[in-house]
Amino acid sequence: MLDHALRILKDVFGYDSFRGRQSAIIERVAGGGDALVLMPTGGGKSLCFQVPALLREGLAVVVSPLIALMDDQVATLDELGVAAVALNSTLNAEQQREIAERINRGEIKMLYLAPERLVQPRMLAFLQRLDIALFAIDEAHCVSQWGHDFRPEYLQLGQLAELFPNVPRIALTATADMRTREEIVQRLHLHNAERFLSSFDRPNIFYRIVPKDQPRKQLLAFLAERKGDAGIVYCMSRKKVDEMAAFLTEQGFPALPYHAGLANELRAYHQKRFLNEEGLIMVATIAFGMGIDKPNVRFVAHLDLPKSLEAYYQETGRAGRDSLPADAWMAYGLQDVIFLKQMLNNSEGDERHKRVEQHKLDAMLALCEETRCRRQVLLAYFDEDMPNPCGHCDNCIDGVQTWDATEPARQALSAIYRSGQRYGVGHLVDLLLGRDNDKVRGPGHQHLSIFGVGKALSEGEWRSLFRQLVARGLADVDLEGYGGLRLSDSCRPLLRGEVTLQLRRDLKPQHTAKTSSSAASQLVRGDEREQWEALRALRRKLAEEHAVPPYVIFPDATLLEMLRSKPGTLTEMAQVSGVGARKLERYGEAFLEVLGGNVEAPRVVADLRHELVSLARAGMTPLQIASQLRCSEKNVYSLLAEAIGRQQLSLEQALDLPEELLGEIQDAFLDGEGELPPVAEVSGLFVGRAEDGVLYCVRAALQAEFGA
Ligand code: ADP
Ligand code: ZN
Repeated sequence: MLDHALRILKDVFGYDSFRGRQSAIIERVAGGGDALVLMPTGGGKSLCFQVPALLREGLAVVVSPLIALMDDQVATLDELGVAAVALNSTLNAEQQREIAERINRGEIKMLYLAPERLVQPRMLAFLQRLDIALFAIDEAHCVSQWGHDFRPEYLQLGQLAELFPNVPRIALTATADMRTREEIVQRLHLHNAERFLSSFDRPNIFYRIVPKDQPRKQLLAFLAERKGDAGIVYCMSRKKVDEMAAFLTEQGFPALPYHAGLANELRAYHQKRFLNEEGLIMVATIAFGMGIDKPNVRFVAHLDLPKSLEAYYQETGRAGRDSLPADAWMAYGLQDVIFLKQMLNNSEGDERHKRVEQHKLDAMLALCEETRCRRQVLLAYFDEDMPNPCGHCDNCIDGVQTWDATEPARQALSAIYRSGQRYGVGHLVDLLLGRDNDKVRGPGHQHLSIFGVGKALSEGEWRSLFRQLVARGLADVDLEGYGGLRLSDSCRPLLRGEVTLQLRRDLKPQHTAKTSSSAASQLVRGDEREQWEALRALRRKLAEEHAVPPYVIFPDATLLEMLRSKPGTLTEMAQVSGVGARKLERYGEAFLEVLGGNVEAPRVVADLRHELVSLARAGMTPLQIASQLRCSEKNVYSLLAEAIGRQQLSLEQALDLPEELLGEIQDAFLDGEGELPPVAEVSGLFVGRAEDGVLYCVRAALQAEFGA
């Protein structure tokens, strides 16, 4: 059987060998047994049911919670030449009937369904008349009431065990914890399932956590090395999401906002663009994530602290599904801690629940202040032992300096105590540094014994120290007030001199900026860039023609291998990982041509046009676009005018013109019976800013509208 499985792997999917536990899982399911598969994101879960589906007779039924996920998988299978369909609410009765007929004729190999549809009595009766190869239950953790992805319909999937006793069932999830695992087994009636547990390590992700100093600047420095990469930037609030998306776009990093406050259509539109276009940044609240199957998300950046390691792991895990190098980057500061602690305190729920949440937050904080390998600590939290430091996180690479902070910590605690346990860090630092200002004088704090005792440390060092005291629970945050600090019970031994305290020394921001690169920015070398872009341009063109996201044509890893191994013939092309028979036949020639250097100007210009349209839609000004595409502003205007003429862009998307001025230009143009008015006659146009270009764009818009 394994021989046969390997042949399918190569012929259909274009891969040479199975990864991790894939072959064991496939053997189990293809042989008719049940399986519970726990594998991290990007581990290759899909093949675990797709290969057995092709090995077995009959129809494979895949349950998936989200339409977007289904469509993506169906498109991918379609490109591979596997007959797959999704039955979902977007289809009308006629289309559904047609699919049912094709299934009856045995023309479909894989059927994707939402759980609520599968458990409809009519659907179950329909399936019972057919030969079913297997049931795959994807995102199986949705059956758990404790997780935040709970889907009540999943509870009804248990009946499949009784209704289809001889059909193997495979449940898959990337959620690791023990409790969820047991719930899946119970509720899906998977008592006889063999369990396949993989390591939850994501070796291709580089973890870095930096102290928050000037977050915007820090983020830009991080992004500067990742121009053109797709990524997600998580922020806590909707307002911050909107502001950050605008800011990044303004800075030349096309970004879109995503949060629950946006209209549904707009959210869906942004998500779709993120999937279909390359190099877009999604700035989002945690509302964004579930169902994001985009494999080439190159980074996930956090500008605010997640509230648990579970959340951190899941959110950062959206990077690098394709196994290529990716980054998880976070800036974190005392304000984050204060904010989350206050939120927790004000949340609904009983004391026990709050204690659990508090415990989770503490684990998150501990990771931030960690001096050992981040990955070791992260995995240990999920009960996985990693014997050696990973060598692929900031702590491993930069090394962490610690210092004996016993004495300064006691000074800091005493400053909190003597000033009455109600002041925030700013004031406390002023006291320690002996700053004589009104705020200090008001309450007479210049007379406190600790006033000015801390001049040996800088302001930054004191702030770092206070942050770490709070993170370690040695000082508490005043939860009702304005973030004043109090002593906690656990600081007593330190105050009494019974223990010492070693703290992490924060690296200087310049230093972190300089070393913040990981392998991700080196995905392609400078000298490969041109050909890489040419390959991506071809992929994008094909993707557009087939109305699928680019990664469905070929994943980045496949493109990268083409770039490096430079196949010169179709036979060589077939060797490239990810090039199966169907794709070889469809796309082999075209990619060989690009690799042979036969890409000429037209395609490159087409590429430029495409990028220009996406940048304009992302809200960039012509000047910003010009700098992004490294061409003249004048050129940008004429390309914009063209795009408007082809109705790919609206005038509003292309230019931000005051309404009055627009009216004036339109009038002048119409008065002149279609002749462009001389720039000088249009009063609002300020000198030196590609004025002709503006006129071209307005004319193109009028012509597009009236067919003038
Ligand atoms: P998951 O669902 O576990 O997040 P996917 O099934 O989407 O992961 O697989 C992640 C990526 O790895 C996909 O691009 C997939 O084609 C690729 N992949 C999976 N198995 C293999 C394999 N054996 N060899 C090469 N690539 C693989
Ligand atoms: Zn490490």
